[in-house]
Amino acid sequence: MPQRPAACLFDLDGLLLDTEPAHARAWQAAASHFGRPLDGAELLSLRGRRRLDCASQVRQWIVAAGGPRLSEEELLAVRQPLAEALLASAPAMPGAEALVRRCRALGIPMALATSSARPAVERKVAPHPWMALIDERVHGDDPELADGKPAPDAFLLAARRLGVATTACWAFEDSRAGVAAALSAGCRVHVLLPPGVSCRTYPEAVVCLNSLEEVRLDPES
Ligand SMILES: [Mg+2]
Repeated sequence: MPQRPAACLFDLDGLLLDTEPAHARAWQAAASHFGRPLDGAELLSLRGRRRLDCASQVRQWIVAAGGPRLSEEELLAVRQPLAEALLASAPAMPGAEALVRRCRALGIPMALATSSARPAVERKVAPHPWMALIDERVHGDDPELADGKPAPDAFLLAARRLGVATTACWAFEDSRAGVAAALSAGCRVHVLLPPGVSCRTYPEAVVCLNSLEEVRLDPES
């Protein structure tokens, strides 16, 4: 069977760019600052979600542990400077640039469907000129985006902007929230497994990858 989607919809953080260690370090530092260090499962559950959704969750954990009744803004005031410094130098994931270049060479349209807000995306992609080969971007603060992942909106909007049906798209994700979003949008979902996460924890319809280098795309027959 030919391996060729109508379009590829890419997550950004932890999928095309190796930003998740930076995000995790920054959340860990902020939560610890308020006396409530996060465990590995909690850090994984923050993946793929919008900054404000994460801030609200981390704030709840801090308050539930008897910590200060701080606002999300106070939490982000501690978290953001560290995150921004770390994220500006995040490298590409192995195979990411080659996959984007392969899509372009084959004429497969591409969109970014990210929870990350536009200014943050621009900082992160600045050292990666190949990111400009991606045709469309849906940001977490996109005026046309109603709900963040795990809601399907980001993928629905990305496919609409490319003029293709989500059911004909391949979506590439690394997070649980992102996979849920792409599945409910109707995409064929590929998940890049983070270290320590098993493919068995995903529905059978999801294609598991250990590296983007495993993705096969055939020329048009
Ligand atoms: Mg991600």
